Amino acid sequence: MAQTSVVVSEVGITATAATATACPCPGSLFPYPPPRAGMAVSRKCLRAAQAELGAGMLSGLVESMRASSPTHARAAAALAAGVDDEHAAWMARHPSALAKFEEIVAASKGKQIVMFLDYDGTLSPIVDDPDAAFMSETMRMAVRSVAKHFPTAIVSGRCRDKVFEFVKLAELYYAGSHGMDIKGPAKSSSGHAKSKAKGVLFQPASEFLPMIEEVHQRLIEETKHVAGAKVENNKFCVSVHFRCVDEKSWGALAETVKGVMREYPKLRMSQGRMVFEVRPTIKWDKGKALEFLLESLGFADCSNVLPVYIGDDRTDEDAFKVLRRRGQGVGILVSKHPKDTSASFSLQEPAEVMEFLLRLVEWKQLSRARLRLRRQAHA
Ligand SMILES: [Mg+2]
Repeated sequence: MAQTSVVVSEVGITATAATATACPCPGSLFPYPPPRAGMAVSRKCLRAAQAELGAGMLSGLVESMRASSPTHARAAAALAAGVDDEHAAWMARHPSALAKFEEIVAASKGKQIVMFLDYDGTLSPIVDDPDAAFMSETMRMAVRSVAKHFPTAIVSGRCRDKVFEFVKLAELYYAGSHGMDIKGPAKSSSGHAKSKAKGVLFQPASEFLPMIEEVHQRLIEETKHVAGAKVENNKFCVSVHFRCVDEKSWGALAETVKGVMREYPKLRMSQGRMVFEVRPTIKWDKGKALEFLLESLGFADCSNVLPVYIGDDRTDEDAFKVLRRRGQGVGILVSKHPKDTSASFSLQEPAEVMEFLLRLVEWKQLSRARLRLRRQAHA
């Protein structure tokens, strides 16, 4: 893994390096932050990314695109080059959430688990056509089952309506546009949703809508010459997907998007997995959305809740960092490859996410059954 390229995650005017702080909650079972390598490099590179982008930065950006958007060919080459040791070391720092399942559920004792799930690459596979990123029916059943036992939110960079079309579960919370468009469940499946959270609707970036529409049109026009580039309007943000762009053209695409962005100082560009994200400079992200939803659910107090956040993208790091700052919660990165992350655990792919969700449901059902039996025994 090329460390210097991995950490260039934000390229824009207001990108900030969130600082992980020690756990303020004495009851937390998971130490935050866990020991991690490469933090000094991360901060140094983030500061570099905040600087004005020049020609030198462009090559750094392309390297960053390569690192966060691994292709099969590169993964195979990395394996051939013998990076098994590095992967093993990364797995030691971010162990499988399935292997550590018992520890994770033990940490929820006396606490309400609240589930936060990213969509693309977490519940659905990354596919060439973003409009065809469907989730499987079995995954939908797993998410539905989880939502019966725990408040569950989908937190996505997609526009809220589009992610709802994919997920099709009215009992969930949806935070679209990287958390800038939040809506509570249309129906409650289990009664765990507290009344004040029902019908919640929060759109902190409404004033940016006309500008987002304008930059969407500009990006469509300007990226026409880059074969495979796809521009998606996500209502409060715009995505420029490069999953179908030949790697040789990634530099040209990055330069084009950056050129448009220079005309919109109130917008910023960040880079995700096979995608550039353009969004307002307001300090609102998936991490803020997580905090807003916890508060809406009546869980602002950190002592009686265990947020579990599963995501695969750079934008999910904002949520992982919030969990670190709260000193409580379970951040799980979905990745087959070592990545610089603030998550504590990892899962390799959506299939493992589904297995984790099903085990959580099974554990909850067993816990309830045991509780019932104990009560009957003492009656
Ligand atoms: Mg994702």
